[in-house]
Amino acid sequence: MKTGEIREAFLAYFESHGHQRVPSSSLVPADDPTLLFTNAGMNQFKDVFLGAESRSYNRAVSAQRCVRAGGKHNDLENVGYTARHHTFFEMLGNFSFGDYFKSEAIRFAWNFLTVELGLPKERLWVTVHLTDDEAERIWIEEIGFPAERISRLDEDNFWQMGDTGPCGPCSEVFYDHGEDVPGGPPGSPDDDLDRYIEIWNLVFMQYNRSANGEMAPLPKPSVDTGMGLERIAAILQGVHSNYEIDLFQALIASAADVVGASDRQASSLRVIADHIRSSAFLITDGVLPGNEGRSYVLRRIMRRAIRHGNKLGATELFFHKLVAPLAEQMGDFYPELRAQQARIEDVIRGEEEQFARTLEQGMAILDDALAEMQGDVIPGDVVFKLYDTYGFPVDLTNDIARERNFSLDMPGYEAAMQAQRERSKEGGGFSVDYNSTLTLEGETVFVGYEHSAGSGQVVALLRD
Ligand code: ATP
Ligand code: MG
Ligand code: MG
Ligand code: MG
Repeated sequence: MKTGEIREAFLAYFESHGHQRVPSSSLVPADDPTLLFTNAGMNQFKDVFLGAESRSYNRAVSAQRCVRAGGKHNDLENVGYTARHHTFFEMLGNFSFGDYFKSEAIRFAWNFLTVELGLPKERLWVTVHLTDDEAERIWIEEIGFPAERISRLDEDNFWQMGDTGPCGPCSEVFYDHGEDVPGGPPGSPDDDLDRYIEIWNLVFMQYNRSANGEMAPLPKPSVDTGMGLERIAAILQGVHSNYEIDLFQALIASAADVVGASDRQASSLRVIADHIRSSAFLITDGVLPGNEGRSYVLRRIMRRAIRHGNKLGATELFFHKLVAPLAEQMGDFYPELRAQQARIEDVIRGEEEQFARTLEQGMAILDDALAEMQGDVIPGDVVFKLYDTYGFPVDLTNDIARERNFSLDMPGYEAAMQAQRERSKEGGGFSVDYNSTLTLEGETVFVGYEHSAGSGQVVALLRD
């Protein structure tokens, strides 16, 4: 089954079970300053879960475009490294607004996977929340699922869209890609490797978390589910990685053509193929590259893709040329991609032209610094200069550093930034407020950097 056919099969299945087909909402959340970008199918139904809005239906189904490149769910740093993460992906979801609850939600998911799609049952694993005896009982007694393939987890089985908002315990379905792939079952120490891949999350929406952390019960227990279209496509197409599905193979082939790369396996091609989707869809939904908030996230994504093309030896502007192949792959379901193709290309070409002026110089500065360096930490003043003079977002520098097993001196970078702020204050008149480069309408604050587990890498943290 092609990716587009799987999307349709999902929508049709739930429609035939009384669910209203609801179009994907925009990647820019409507009136929700707590959210950077739409990160799940339930976002557009947030107020329905909260009881603040009612609809003419109490069951819905959607294929929702999502971006996870900042905020609570941030997968930017995973792209190019894991088989299962994108910055842009489509989430298939069925929803119950005070209608059915755990038992039906689990039965729908099980039937869709094993009967409609015909997945082998013995490849499936399940998790439930530590406290959720009821969900475990349903899996075992009503479905007949073997107890030994169920694990009970804590944080991973409690879903929340952000620091506030609807949330609840969840039950997740995983697929075992087989012993050729390293990794352990959910809950084991190496479950983050890509053998057992999470495909579907069934959230039992029961609470509303407020800003002080307290959880109040929702008016009606509800259901929110999310399944990654690209992950289920990989399974049905008999491949391990999302990047091997029809849609991504087409985008990767186009990316290889436009940059003149011969090695189709290069991780940079995966990054480019991923980033053209998030870039083009964000632009379609009205975001433009810039220095603040959502615009800056888009700029970071685009510059990262452009740098990966440069790394593969691209000799001319290439990124905008991928809009046409993307529209060809996804334009049937998203006609706005075709309708806006010329505009999207112009915006991307503009960013490419702007970054091309400083990319080569910046890379030369970085190479010189690396050649002269003792140790494996790139000095903060170099990181700052790349940012300030050459337009390298810090996570772009970090991306390069990570490839070469270097890390960044973030305190040094902060100090250089602070010194610059002081200088611009003294100069009076025009000054760039560097803090504002990372804020989202005053809501997303830059909270610092974290060393991600194991890798020793520095990751910029944005909090909604
Ligand atoms: P993971 O643990 O693999 O990062 P998650 O637990 O963060 O996934 P959920 O928030 O539960 O994901 O989202 C529901 C579903 O959406 C997941 O089960 C998965 O199929 C899909 N999904 C989540 N993040 C991504 C992503 N970055 N790229 C592609 N699909 C994703
Ligand atoms: Mg995740
Ligand atoms: Mg997970
Ligand atoms: Mg999950």
